[in-house]
Amino acid sequence: MHEASVALSLIDVASEVLREHGAAQASALTVRVGAWSSVVPEALQAAFPACAEGTPLEGARLSVVTVPGVGECPVHGRVTLDVTRGLRCPECGAPTPTLLAGDELELDELELVEPDLEDV
Ligand SMILES: [Zn+2]
Repeated sequence: MHEASVALSLIDVASEVLREHGAAQASALTVRVGAWSSVVPEALQAAFPACAEGTPLEGARLSVVTVPGVGECPVHGRVTLDVTRGLRCPECGAPTPTLLAGDELELDELELVEPDLEDV
């Protein structure tokens, strides 16, 4: 159920972008999901089509890009975190409590459907 509400809020954001561009529909969208966000990409993919029904995003292709977690180790600087090991430097195991990247959930790209010239 969590992913359905995530899908709905993404559809809200995307619909707003469509309005700004005067487009009626989108054919595809790309979403960036951090490895440390609580969103499961597969579940989001599964929830999206039903949530998009009746919106300008209906039938749009959803791509999910997973963003790896990045922390800051006092010794190694910026390190890519391993989700299975938690907020620790993968090199030395030092705690990296601050997540520099990897908790995002944002609309990255939106492919608009060009108005069909035959319909004008
Ligand atoms: Zn380290």
